[in-house]
Amino acid sequence: MTENEALGRLLGADGPDIGCDACFEELDRYVELELAGADVEAILPGMRGHLAGCPACADEHASLVALLRERR
Ligand SMILES: [Zn+2]
Repeated sequence: MTENEALGRLLGADGPDIGCDACFEELDRYVELELAGADVEAILPGMRGHLAGCPACADEHASLVALLRERR
């Protein structure tokens, strides 16, 4: 098993994984809340766990954060 699968299993025991589709839909809102200092895990449960276990969404998240930070 790969490192990511191992990580996914670890996180799976920890909480829900919302999956890529839902993650993608909420990513804009998630990043804005995150940068605003909101409790994102309470507002969008499972997002942080998914981002930690999914390299594709983590990439997207990182570029959105960079983009929004630049705009401020
Ligand atoms: Zn994903």
